[in-house]
Amino acid sequence: MIRCLCLMLAMAVLSAPAASAEVALTQQDDGFVLSWETSQEGFSSIMIRVLPGEPGEDLSEGALLTTLEPDPDTGLLPSSWMLPRSFVVIPGTCIGCGLCVGQCPVDAIELVGGKALIDPASCIACGICSMTCPTSAIFSLGSGMHYTVTAVDAEGRLLLVGSI
Ligand code: SF4
Ligand code: SF4
Repeated sequence: MIRCLCLMLAMAVLSAPAASAEVALTQQDDGFVLSWETSQEGFSSIMIRVLPGEPGEDLSEGALLTTLEPDPDTGLLPSSWMLPRSFVVIPGTCIGCGLCVGQCPVDAIELVGGKALIDPASCIACGICSMTCPTSAIFSLGSGMHYTVTAVDAEGRLLLVGSI
């Protein structure tokens, strides 16, 4: 079953060339795919963040999921990314108590700079940490989340190219 959740036009975060994109979250048999359309010109990388709640909230509160670089052969940036089967910590909500670290059965969580950080490659998505967290800072990736796709241009400026 393929389910396109929603889309939203983009806006510039900082003063920079205009960019716009449609972003969609699509469910496939083996997980969720986040995809977007954007001009390849002038961008050096793409960053994907996740945040619970509605589009338009402060990006700095969200968790950085990945930074995508251009394909070394084609020089083109990717236009989609498969979400890992993982839980994620929202830094703005984490108080660094460390309770989740001791609960994880596969030692996928560590405290970095006073915030919990989950290694998506190790996480088996059991959800124990989410039930343990006193501030509800841990979420499962997938539908019901707010994703933003941010491009970095050649001068290092950030552009929000789309969100859902
Ligand atoms: S969901 Fe389970 S495996 Fe993943 S970080 Fe939390 S406790 Fe660890
Ligand atoms: S239990 Fe919640 S608040 Fe405490 S360190 Fe883990 S994510 Fe942060």
